[in-house]
Amino acid sequence: MAKEAPSSRRGRTPRPAAGGRKPRRAPSLPAPGGDPLPAPLRAGMTPIHDALLGWFKRVGRDLPWRRGVDPYRTWISEVMLQQTQVDRVVDFFHRFMERFPTVERLAAAPESDVLRAWEGLGYYRRARQLHAAAKRIVADHGGHLPDTAAGLRELPGIGRYTAGAIASIAFGCPEPIVEANSRRVLARLVAHAAPLDGTAGDGPIWEIATALLPPRSAGQWNQALMDLGATVCTPRSPLCSRCPLAPHCLALASRSTASIPVSTARREVVERDETAIVVRRGAKVLVVRRGAGEWWEGLWDFPRLPAKEILVPLGCGRRRVVGRCSYTVTHHRVEVSVAVCEASRQGARRDGVAWIDWEALGTLAMTAPGRRIAALAERGEGESGRGGDRSSRRRRG
Ligand code: SF4
Repeated sequence: MAKEAPSSRRGRTPRPAAGGRKPRRAPSLPAPGGDPLPAPLRAGMTPIHDALLGWFKRVGRDLPWRRGVDPYRTWISEVMLQQTQVDRVVDFFHRFMERFPTVERLAAAPESDVLRAWEGLGYYRRARQLHAAAKRIVADHGGHLPDTAAGLRELPGIGRYTAGAIASIAFGCPEPIVEANSRRVLARLVAHAAPLDGTAGDGPIWEIATALLPPRSAGQWNQALMDLGATVCTPRSPLCSRCPLAPHCLALASRSTASIPVSTARREVVERDETAIVVRRGAKVLVVRRGAGEWWEGLWDFPRLPAKEILVPLGCGRRRVVGRCSYTVTHHRVEVSVAVCEASRQGARRDGVAWIDWEALGTLAMTAPGRRIAALAERGEGESGRGGDRSSRRRRG
């Protein structure tokens, strides 16, 4: 049986193994326009298909969207899974399907309801595009998802991966997929020794995925690749001794599982400071809607400084800092100082700015940092009511 790669062999350049043996070289990359599959894999296609499909039948993950075939459920799950781990998606999926059990119900809902149901999953652009696509499906396709990858890609928010996943899983089309897990499995299987980041890097992997598709059961095959990547062919220390593809895996044969896939350098994290202002006026609180091009576009939040155009016309007095929180978004790490102030007037009506009852904040489609800011403000108010601002007392002490 093939052995698991020793965990000490990590990093980009394979080091000599214990005892001074040199690692075997990974096979060189195929010539442009040539067969993307190395000869040993091309010769072993049927055993490879049988091994992985048999493994999937035995130990494939039991996930709610896999129970029965329903293109709508497949679509929703695939969009949720685009940037979110399976474990987190399961609960959201159940709640979303209860709220919007059909594409018609989703299309008919106000966008704010869809964003509210999406809250916590992040990447809200997905929810807006999902909603827009649902409207198109109802208006142009009689409530049925298109049954080809090309037709699916005409819809908002459906790119090559999602179209391939829906077309293969829900409609049995012979379409490949490439996402984080299958990308890693495919790269290791063929010992693809070039960087994979970015669209250009993924091109060869799409060719490999296409060349490896079995003649039937593309949907099962694609799901099997994803499951194998998630549970066995993990980023660090892949469990090669349990892998059904081990007899065929060229990265394992060349002892290069630790260095494949090759990725380019990560983007540097940018640190940023913000002040969020919770403006109260009696039982009301001021909220602002995130604008086009901003993170969390369309969701409600609290104003951030500098925001003179909002705060000065409201006659805001002294600001009281009630706490701090932080969040990470894309490659930014943001530290937020949360302050509360009382407005002496309500100001003129403006688009994207609203006064709402504090008690109604829970019903608003709000950013995740916005929720944490609200919780800090509420706690700060309570503490203030019980004897003043704890943070200012700390500063004085
Ligand atoms: S596909 Fe992944 S887990 Fe399987 S043998 Fe190759 S490196 Fe190991």
